[in-house]
Amino acid sequence: MMGLFNLSRPVSLLASITTRAMATAATGEGRLAGKVAIVTASTDGIGLAIARRLGEEGAKVVVSSRKPANVERAVADLQGIGCTVVGIPCHVSKHQERQSLIDKTVEKFGGLDILVSNAAVNPAVGGVLDCSEGVWDKIFEVNVKNALQLTQLAVPHMQQRKGGAIVYVSSIGGYQPMPMLGAYSVSKTALLGLSKAVAQEVASDNIRVNCVAPGVVRTKFSSFLTENPAVHEKTIEMIPLGRIAEPKEMGGLVAFLCSEDASYITGESYVAAGGMFSRL
Ligand code: NAP
Repeated sequence: MMGLFNLSRPVSLLASITTRAMATAATGEGRLAGKVAIVTASTDGIGLAIARRLGEEGAKVVVSSRKPANVERAVADLQGIGCTVVGIPCHVSKHQERQSLIDKTVEKFGGLDILVSNAAVNPAVGGVLDCSEGVWDKIFEVNVKNALQLTQLAVPHMQQRKGGAIVYVSSIGGYQPMPMLGAYSVSKTALLGLSKAVAQEVASDNIRVNCVAPGVVRTKFSSFLTENPAVHEKTIEMIPLGRIAEPKEMGGLVAFLCSEDASYITGESYVAAGGMFSRL
């Protein structure tokens, strides 16, 4: 019988707090073992949760965002749970930083297998008819053009590896424009098209390209929907599951799409939005 003084007890307790990433690193197993993954805008929110999940499943992960201090913090967090991770600052709108993100990843880890394009902006709220040219251009530059430009840099490295996986982070707003997020929503619809177009062009290289469309997820980005009680209540009314998602609820879907479990899936979009309306 196990008793208070049984010495095996503390050991088994220790084992039980070993993280999934530590266990994966120790065994060298995991769905994504041996894969090298870049996740853009991955020092907070959904991107960080995706980076964490890819790392937990055995991938070598590159985290990145604009601010070096944020990158350092995210690297420390993920190393702390046993992930193999490096940080490379990258503002996705800066050509040199996009190039350096790809080059340094290949230099550090020897190649590239997975790109998760997660960066997006929404500089102003309002409908499309009120959207200024400057705001429209900024949204489409970051959310769509920079995603394509990173893809253009990543694909040759995936071709060298004879395969790869690309995931664009779209939004439920891409299916059903969110009130006051007009241009942002249209940019997220464009990503559904971009993923299909790129998927067709790289299918013969064994590179798969898919989109995920999160619903409302608890992050800084969505704080205007979640922090004001009245707006929060209205938001919840739109969600059949009756709650806001946590960032980690997006990680498993992306890890699946990047893995061999999704080996016959390309050009598709997956909604994770608690049952919100999702038809174009
Ligand atoms: P978040 O928590 O606010 O995190 C934003 C991240 O992006 C930070 O790491 C930030 O770090 C980085 N970043 C911002 N601008 C960047 C740029 N130009 N280049 C590189 N990194 C940049 O945001 P989130 O809610 O996780 O959103 C992530 C993605 O999910 C976006 O594509 C968003 O459209 C999508 N999404 C979010 C929701 C939601 O409800 N939250 C719903 C649907 C879709 P730095 O400040 O250091 O750059």
